[in-house]
Amino acid sequence: MLKKVLIANRGEVALSILRNCRELGIETVAVYSEADREEPVVFLADESICIGPGESRSSYLNENHILQAALQTHCDGIHPGYGFLSENGEFAKKVEEQGLKFIGPSSQVISQMGDKISAKNLMIENKIPTVPGFNEDLQSLQQLSEVAEEIGFPVLLKASAGGGGKGMRRVDSLEDLEWAFKVTKKESRASFGKEEIYVEKFIENPRHIEVQILGDSYGNVIHLFERECSLQKKNQKIMEEAPCRFVSEELLEKMYQAAINAGKACGFEGAGTVEFIVDKEENFYFMEMNTRLQVEHAVTEMITGINIIQEQLKIASGLPIRWKQEDVKKEGHAIEVRINAEDPLQNFMPQCGEISFFFPPGGMETRLESSIYSGLKISPYYDSMIGKIIVKGDTRLSAIKKMRRAIEETIIDGIKTNLGFQYGILHEKDFLRGRIHTGYVEEKGHGILEGMRIFERSE
Ligand code: ADP
Repeated sequence: MLKKVLIANRGEVALSILRNCRELGIETVAVYSEADREEPVVFLADESICIGPGESRSSYLNENHILQAALQTHCDGIHPGYGFLSENGEFAKKVEEQGLKFIGPSSQVISQMGDKISAKNLMIENKIPTVPGFNEDLQSLQQLSEVAEEIGFPVLLKASAGGGGKGMRRVDSLEDLEWAFKVTKKESRASFGKEEIYVEKFIENPRHIEVQILGDSYGNVIHLFERECSLQKKNQKIMEEAPCRFVSEELLEKMYQAAINAGKACGFEGAGTVEFIVDKEENFYFMEMNTRLQVEHAVTEMITGINIIQEQLKIASGLPIRWKQEDVKKEGHAIEVRINAEDPLQNFMPQCGEISFFFPPGGMETRLESSIYSGLKISPYYDSMIGKIIVKGDTRLSAIKKMRRAIEETIIDGIKTNLGFQYGILHEKDFLRGRIHTGYVEEKGHGILEGMRIFERSE
């Protein structure tokens, strides 16, 4: 087994990694920014090292400082969590070159799958369905216009290096193409350091369904079923559930197989996710593969009983996967809501400041993954997600009822959160019927916000 792991992340995921290392007898080193001195992981880890000021680029994205910290403390592995350096192939390569294990697949796989054009082309070679489009870097407006007319509007321009729901632009007509082409390229260079963009058909109101996979260093790849992640705001997920009860078993079987093929095609090792979009006719298309832990991995843990972070640590230690595909079973229904420090009634403006009082939810099969506590200050530097509540019920409806109850008892004072908005979704009739798609939040959000306003006025 790995002996000592540096946790190159913060917040709830850093704490989760720490807990799992400890359960496996692995020592931990926490790295933290000056803004995160009061994070629980800093006190709980065996050793903690400050790696720079609050801004991510000087701390959690500071490759040299993180690598130095790992070498100085004699770690044999680095767990990147999600976000930050987790899908940075060049960083993974530097870690490998120092003889340390980057907990995830090889740097070469990360780079190949991190580039959306090369990932898509690998899928096409392996006969996995992809969204119709032009899978090369678009060189000119002329070329884009020809492709767009051929596949038909609306189209989606995408940055090849994009991620986190950013670097995408829908275009509805030929007239808007020139502007969109220039702006998307410019934004892509500014946000991801690369100008490469490609184009694909924009699928109207699809579902986002993804398949969790595990691969080991012996070539075994298994899937841990699907997650329904259609509830998104600006292409960022806000609530996820497993399993997806609204598509046919045949479709799911095809997606599991495609996900395993995708994992085998790239020689995947670790925990990864193959993301698909599904249209109304149940056509499914590969969208991208995330070669890291996902925020929503916990819903899969709840229905399968498999601890994904511990599997990552074991696989990275060279152990084979313990399960054969037929041994992996799903049971019940799990839902996760992301707790974001943002004000739904002020256009979801991110919030910072001190949490003056916090009372966490609890109870059977009600799980909180968060590092917040009464007195902690939320700084402006990082993503607004401050935690997740995950529940499991026998049925989807019982999970929904449990989540409503969990939100009702949660108190977070001092800053605004999106929990009231999430609570509204949990009562909305199309959500209850499973009529959700990636445009759902945009469509229903106004009604839910109106409900919140009425409630606030009457209080
Ligand atoms: P990221 O890497 O930024 O997460 P993805 O490629 O995973 O980007 O896409 C994120 C979301 O964007 C999807 O869940 C879906 O809602 C939307 N999306 C992506 N591609 C398409 C498409 N071709 N048609 C419609 N929606 C899309």
